[in-house]
Amino acid sequence: MKPSMICQLVWMLVLALAMVSGPAHGKGVSLAWMETPGPEIGVEDIRDLPEAQWRQASTRDTLNFGFSESSYWLRVKVPPVPANRVLEIGYPLLDDVRIYWFVGGRQVESHVTGDSREFSSRPIDHRHFIFPVPSNNEPATAYLRIQSEGAVQIPVRVIESADFLAREQLDYGWQAVFLGIMIAMALYNLFVFVIVRHLAYLWYVLTVVVSALVLLNFNGLVFQWLWPDLPILNRYFTAPAISANIIFAVLFALSFLAVKKYSLVSYRIFQLVVLISVFTFFYGLFGPYQSSTAIISVFAAIITPLAWILGLVVWRKGQVLAGFYVLAWTPLLLGHLVMAISKIGLIPTSSVTELAPQTGVALEVILMSFALAYRINLERRLRIEAQDQALDIQREANQTLEARVQARTDELEQANERLKAVSITDGLTQVANRRRFDEILTVEWSRALRQQHPLSLVLLDIDHFKRVNDSLGHLAGDDCLISLARVCADEVQRSGDLLARYGGEEFSVLLPTTDEDGATSVAERLRVAVARTPVYPGDHIEPVNLTVSVGVATCIPSPGTRPSDLIARADEALYAAKDAGRNQVMVYRDAGAVRPRAAHTFSS
Ligand code: GH3
Ligand code: MG
Ligand code: MG
Repeated sequence: MKPSMICQLVWMLVLALAMVSGPAHGKGVSLAWMETPGPEIGVEDIRDLPEAQWRQASTRDTLNFGFSESSYWLRVKVPPVPANRVLEIGYPLLDDVRIYWFVGGRQVESHVTGDSREFSSRPIDHRHFIFPVPSNNEPATAYLRIQSEGAVQIPVRVIESADFLAREQLDYGWQAVFLGIMIAMALYNLFVFVIVRHLAYLWYVLTVVVSALVLLNFNGLVFQWLWPDLPILNRYFTAPAISANIIFAVLFALSFLAVKKYSLVSYRIFQLVVLISVFTFFYGLFGPYQSSTAIISVFAAIITPLAWILGLVVWRKGQVLAGFYVLAWTPLLLGHLVMAISKIGLIPTSSVTELAPQTGVALEVILMSFALAYRINLERRLRIEAQDQALDIQREANQTLEARVQARTDELEQANERLKAVSITDGLTQVANRRRFDEILTVEWSRALRQQHPLSLVLLDIDHFKRVNDSLGHLAGDDCLISLARVCADEVQRSGDLLARYGGEEFSVLLPTTDEDGATSVAERLRVAVARTPVYPGDHIEPVNLTVSVGVATCIPSPGTRPSDLIARADEALYAAKDAGRNQVMVYRDAGAVRPRAAHTFSS
């Protein structure tokens, strides 16, 4: 809300209130007053004073003398009216109120009361001072002596009892509504505090409770309800209660708006305000009544708009909640402003102006409760956002972790495969090694046993290899082995066949589902390929011609036989080939190894 709009609103309110009529004194009632600063004078002496001493008062205004040590005398002349009437003094905080009724020149009734006396001293049990008019058919005159250490305001009026009762209903109803709102808001926020445990809510509850007490005190209800027999407490209540109200309200604002975070200067100023309020609290308890109430009144009049400005400052600095705070604080400020303006006399005092602060406070309390509820919502939203963020971070971390684990697993699998390949490959010739040969032999043996297929084994041994080593060196020998392995690998292409380095310069070829004829032809092909391929080991220019002797064995495994039987047979055939002159193939037979049939023999 813009400041200009607020100003406009204030004026509209002031004008509206100005149209509401002030306290009517009743038809024909005249009011005069005088101040007597000197020694106490009795009512008879007052009556004897010349008329010129009396000052006529307008019948509309509330007599307002501010803080004063003086005694004030009022003379209220009440004409006869055929109806019961009462004289009301509508300000309950007056210390000493004395009334002397005169009818036909004689004193007919007197009362000595005031809020420094027990409640029972009042002729009518009411929060204001209410005195019945003693006569309906003769003119009656009331002489009132009023003295108070607090602010001296004397709203006087004479009103028909029936009207008074009717208006009282309404007034009391408003008080009840006000109190109901305050109790509801205090309880509600107390529960919220118990759950949320944020100090702002506790300060708020205390502010509401003390505000209610302060306003009820101004209406005379605290005295009437809480300690009607202990008027001495009235003297100790007003200033400390207002001080406590300021303390709690400021602590609430500082906590609720997180002022320290937004404006350190404002924070320091309001810390000082709390400090001063603590002082006025104790000054109210132990210091003189008059100066303490005067000081606290001025102080409160400064703090109320200052607290509103605080809201604006923090709002401008980006505190979202301050918007609600300013909105809530505005009716309270306006309510007090209206009352203050009416007290100064700019607008007439009426039940509306008297209720303005109360209405303002009630609105403030309700709006601020909204703000406090909104704060919970805001916090929750922030918390959910933070949670979402944390979840996102966690999710990302999990994804990264998963990716990393996957990468590691892949690496590990590759390494395992490499390891496995290495473990089953011969390092020199890169064909399968002996371990791999043994594994596959066992597997194929079982399969052949199960399916009753023939399984063949071909064993090759290089002829006179020692000589190669001896003449060309071991490294050249290694090269020869590598070349020979390559030549053999080119010949063994059928899937399922396995070429392996069986020992030093011996190679084996396992041929599953292959009969003797097939195996013999493979063996012969190998022998011929080796014999036909010259090898150039290292940087030798002279070729080396290698030959191999080959043993072949074939069998259909039967229960009770073992793979080693097949090896032994092939070995036997190999020896036979060596014996027969090398560079030839021999096939195992029970009766002794034989040359394969001519059809399968290849000549070199
Ligand atoms: P033959 O088989 O014809 O009877 O004669 P040989 O000279 O080949 O005799 P034998 O098979 O008994 O000898 C094997 C020789 O092979 C022994 C060793 O010098 C050689 N040898 C075995 N393993 C390797 C190897 O890995 N590298 C090299 N360079 N030579 C090897
Ligand atoms: Mg050998
Ligand atoms: Mg050999």
